[in-house]
Amino acid sequence: MPEHAPFDLRMETLAVHAGRRVDPGTGAVAPPIYPSSTFLRQPDGSPGESGFGYGREGHPNSHMLEEALAALEQGTGAVAFASGSAAMLAVLETGARRGRVMVPQAAYHGTLAQAKELLPRWGADVVRVDTTRPETVEAALDDGGAALLVVETPANPALGISDLETLGEMCAAHGVMLACDNTFATPVLQQPLALGAGLVVHSTTKYMGGHSDLIGGAVVGHAGDSWLADVAAFRTRAGASPSAFDCWLLSRSLCTLPWRMRAHCDNAAAVVRFLSGHSAVAEVMYPGLETHPGHAVAARQMSGFGGMVAFRMAAGREAAIAVTGRTRLFTRATSLGGVESLIEHRASVEGPDSGVPDDLLRLSVGIEHADDLVADLAAGLDGLGR
Ligand SMILES: *Cc1c(COP(=O)(O)O)cnc(C)c1O
Repeated sequence: MPEHAPFDLRMETLAVHAGRRVDPGTGAVAPPIYPSSTFLRQPDGSPGESGFGYGREGHPNSHMLEEALAALEQGTGAVAFASGSAAMLAVLETGARRGRVMVPQAAYHGTLAQAKELLPRWGADVVRVDTTRPETVEAALDDGGAALLVVETPANPALGISDLETLGEMCAAHGVMLACDNTFATPVLQQPLALGAGLVVHSTTKYMGGHSDLIGGAVVGHAGDSWLADVAAFRTRAGASPSAFDCWLLSRSLCTLPWRMRAHCDNAAAVVRFLSGHSAVAEVMYPGLETHPGHAVAARQMSGFGGMVAFRMAAGREAAIAVTGRTRLFTRATSLGGVESLIEHRASVEGPDSGVPDDLLRLSVGIEHADDLVADLAAGLDGLGR
């Protein structure tokens, strides 16, 4: 990107230009991939002029990616990871060393498993709070000793919404770091740093990657912040660093993120309209619906309601599982955020400890034509009413 952009660039422009520049050596417009694991050092052993030393600590493709991620999230620093799980663990560990860690009632099951299984092994003090109800968070903050509040909004699996501005103010008043998992919304729809969070966590595997062909993660925040520095140090120590190819692929995908999100939102709205009127469906969970308990907050803090939809089948578990075997465009697979639509029976994917209702199906609505997606769901639901 031009070093001194003369005006504030909009999301679509940032997505194409942030972190990218014409390669000075070759004039290549598309960025090269630098798979080198090590870099030429100075005579005294310090990193060379490029600033790079050893690939696990960072390389040209991770730096390009981090510059783009920081710009998109309105941050000034970012740390790219080999997975979203590694990114979240780095934040949890960084918090646990500073005090009590507060995690949500509802979130990605892997995040909750890390808080339940891994943090206690390190002697961490962990509590669960309902982040969708700020008054319960306030009570937990008043107990003192908290260092970190993790929030995921919209959250797995029922798209629960937490009020980032309110939580941000509460955390600031108590000197607590607020970290937001922004995987479902992406910076295109929601910018947690501008709303009061100090760190943003991503599974870039999802919408940012967007094509179901890479695993990655990131933490975005403010350059010079000791939290972000500790997160980066954890990444390098743990060896949770992303490959050059994955960073390059992700940089490429970011260019189209704003346009893909638009299509995901439009298609999800069409799917929600269809499901809401179907007799086989007991309940549709989507923050864009006025009946959703988080609708007002979502409308305030998001510029669109996203591509994730959950719904419950009136006829129960067997009917829900039957749908996943009947759709042809919605592929039965976990994960989300790709160009192709996916359907999953979340309780089966999460396993026996899952608290997800067994009549619930989660859709990741892709960027195919909305009419084809609705027709596919219509065929999937046909005759499964109660
Ligand atoms: C998938 C996911 C993660 C974990 O990311 P991986 O890239 O699979 O390790 C974390 N948070 C949310 C909200 C997710 O959807």
